[in-house]
Amino acid sequence: MRKIVFDFDGVLTDLTHEAQAVIDLFQSKLGTESRGLLKQLNSAFSQSPLSYGWKMHGRVSAFYDEDLFVQNIAMATALDELSPKQTSELLKKIQGEFGAQTFSELGQQCFDQVVAKTSRGEIQPLEAASKNLLNELQDKGFKVVIVSNSGTERIENILKQSGVTLCPHLKIRGGARKFELGTEPKKLQFVDREIDIDRPAYLEALMEERPDAVVGDVFSLDLSLPLYLSENSVDGFKPLKVCLRQRPYTPSWTVKNIQSFKPKRARLVAIQNLSQVLEDL
Ligand SMILES: [Mg+2]
Repeated sequence: MRKIVFDFDGVLTDLTHEAQAVIDLFQSKLGTESRGLLKQLNSAFSQSPLSYGWKMHGRVSAFYDEDLFVQNIAMATALDELSPKQTSELLKKIQGEFGAQTFSELGQQCFDQVVAKTSRGEIQPLEAASKNLLNELQDKGFKVVIVSNSGTERIENILKQSGVTLCPHLKIRGGARKFELGTEPKKLQFVDREIDIDRPAYLEALMEERPDAVVGDVFSLDLSLPLYLSENSVDGFKPLKVCLRQRPYTPSWTVKNIQSFKPKRARLVAIQNLSQVLEDL
């Protein structure tokens, strides 16, 4: 039976509303006095795009511009990395008002608050096309595995609220920690960018699932490791169809590099519509 691994947020859902809500909440909690600092960091991001993002052990796991959730995490991380002299007043404020010890902790609080709204049904992020595709895949006998950093319960709730039938052909692996880097940096040379593929938790999931296709919206988090495994036939990994779901926030370097990367075994494509996943599969 053919099997497709899907990321969830940004692939099956439109994450714009949720992510923008997280960004707005975070910036409103920081207050207007933080504007100068945020502006300064935004220009540092565009000057040194390889140095900022979602980090583990000081290494970039996803670049700051790969999606809107990552953008907020990158901003909180960059604030935490500034010298105490630059942030002491702001830090005192968020400790006093919100009990957050770091900017990253405040960012997480904002994320949790927005996600709670989603679980109460106030935001319904699943797209109609996703519901149709999931049902079509089940009818055609595909196995679908959702491998996501989001919690299993959150994903199940969103699917149920949108009327997707949960059946044995649909498996949900939430809390997948695809962002988690191990202790031995290992790189995929992706045209002009090196991407860290030392992702032990995601590696374990992929080795167990052994899919025929993987679909993601954040190249570093979702696609770099499966592409590497397929290109190098690691442990007999199959030639994969690797699909980037292109979104308004997809950075131009990702699309450019997908076009110029010449895979030996994998098929690497940027898709505009989810149904393109099924083409020649
Ligand atoms: Mg995603």
